[in-house]
Amino acid sequence: MTHCPDVAPPTPTSRDLTLQAAVDVLGSATSVTVLCHVQPDADTVGSGLALGTALRRKGIPVQVAFAAPAELPVSMRDLPGTDLLVAATEVATEVDLLVAVDCGSAGRLGSLASRLGGARRSLVIDHHRSNTRFGTFNLVDDTAESTTAVLTQLFDVWGVPIDADLAHCLYAGLVTDTGSFRWGQAGTHTLAERLLATGIDGGAISRRLLDTHPFGWLPMLGSVLSTAVLVPDAAAGRGLVHAVIRCTDSAGLGAEEIESVIDIVRTTAEAEVAAVFKETAPQSWSVSLRSKNSVDVAAVATTLGGGGHRFAAGYTTAGPVEAVVAQLREALD
Ligand code: AMP
Ligand code: MN
Ligand code: MN
Repeated sequence: MTHCPDVAPPTPTSRDLTLQAAVDVLGSATSVTVLCHVQPDADTVGSGLALGTALRRKGIPVQVAFAAPAELPVSMRDLPGTDLLVAATEVATEVDLLVAVDCGSAGRLGSLASRLGGARRSLVIDHHRSNTRFGTFNLVDDTAESTTAVLTQLFDVWGVPIDADLAHCLYAGLVTDTGSFRWGQAGTHTLAERLLATGIDGGAISRRLLDTHPFGWLPMLGSVLSTAVLVPDAAAGRGLVHAVIRCTDSAGLGAEEIESVIDIVRTTAEAEVAAVFKETAPQSWSVSLRSKNSVDVAAVATTLGGGGHRFAAGYTTAGPVEAVVAQLREALD
C-alpha cells in the first residue's frame, strides 16, 4: 500500500447534527437569517415563521425571507409571525447564522443563495430525500412528513413551548405536506392532535391554505385540463399523464391556483407518473412530478437538475414544450 504523507485529509466542511447540537447552534447565535425556498409553500413559510418566532422569543435578532416572488401567497398571509418577513433586498448581507428551511439544495434559495457567503455559519433544516447538505451544519430527517415536523422535535429538545401561534405555523406545513393527511404515517396524527389541542382551528387553516381559490381558477382549470395527454407506454409502460399551464392560462392567478393542478392530474388511474409543465416565462418551465408506487420521481428530477421526495418532485427546464415533454419521457425510460 502506498503511503502518501503529503496528501492532507479532506477538510470537513459540512456536518450532520443531532437535534441537541442544532439547538446549541441556534441558541448560541447572535443574529439569524431564516430563509424559505423560492415559490414558497406552507411548509417552508410555516417553518420559517415558527423558527423566527421562537428565536425572537429568545431575544435573538432574526429576519425571515424568501427570494421570489415579491409577495407572500395570499393563502399564507394570516400565518402568525408574518411581521418577521423582510423583502429579499432587505436581507442582511452579513449574519452570524443563516438557517435554510425546507430547502433540498442551495439553488432552492434562489437569488438569496448569495447570502450563504456572508454568513459565519449556516444550518440546513429539511426533510428532502435529495438534500445536498449545503450547510455548515445540517439537520435533515427524510423520514419526517414536513419540515415543520422536524422543527417540532427541535422545539421539544430546546424547551420551546408550542402555543397556538407556533402550532398554527407548524400545522400549516404538516397539513399541506401530507396532502391533508392522505399520506400521513405513524405519528402524523399524534402530532396533529397535539397541535390542534392548543386551540387552533384546523378546518379554517386547511380551507384557507388548500380549499380557497378565486373564481378565475375554474376557467383556468377548464383550459389547462383540456391539454392533458395520457402516454401509456411512458415510464417503461407504467404510464405518464401530463398537462401544460401557459402564462396566458395563469395570468392574474396566484401560486395556489397553479400548484393545485398537479393534484387533479395525478389522480389519473392509467398513469403511474403525472407531470404538470408550468410556464414561468416564454419557453421556461417549472415542472411538478408525482408518482404513486413504483417510480422514484426525486431521482428523475435530480437527473434533470431538480430534486424532491420519492413521490413528489420538481425541476426547472427550458425549451419548446414538445422538447421538454420529450426530455421528461427520456428521463423516465
Ligand atoms: P412541487 O411540484 O413544486 O410541489 O414540488 C414537489 C417537490 O419537489 C417539493 O418537495 C419541492 O421541494 C421539490 N422541487 C420542486 N421544484 C424543484 C426544483 N426546481 N429543484 C429542486 N426541488 C424541487
Ligand atoms: Mn416546500
Ligand atoms: Mn416540505
